[in-house]
Amino acid sequence: MQRSLEDLEKILRTQVCSVCTDRLEDGNCGLEDPGDCALFRMLPQTARAIQATDSDDIQDYVRAIRENVCLICRDALPDGSCETREQVRCALDAYLVLVVGALEEATGKTFDHVPAGVSAPLIMPAL
Ligand code: SF4
Ligand code: SF4
Repeated sequence: MQRSLEDLEKILRTQVCSVCTDRLEDGNCGLEDPGDCALFRMLPQTARAIQATDSDDIQDYVRAIRENVCLICRDALPDGSCETREQVRCALDAYLVLVVGALEEATGKTFDHVPAGVSAPLIMPAL
């Protein structure tokens, strides 16, 4: 099933923002500028990268995000490093397991990358 980007954003705001450490008690984003959140700033590219990847290995998704999203993200340095990622302040990177699961479910793809019972966000190691 194909969903619009607006639908995907709503799903991610429910599934990711709800567990994000930057979320305020009132439910709003606690970033100084919520528009800075790479998860939503780069959502079209992220959705395409995840849909183009079909793997049970989360590292394949990490690679797809690095190659298709980080490469054009304003926060990435020319050498591919990212201070935001290193400081675990990129929600896309920090909650990638949740993001992949939410987008794959929303678009009707099979999802079995997260072991049963895991509901907390997983912090992905930097490549
Ligand atoms: S930083 Fe991003 S994921 Fe976290 S609450 Fe704000 S908008 Fe949601
Ligand atoms: S890890 Fe850094 S470069 Fe990649 S999307 Fe997040 S903020 Fe952008």
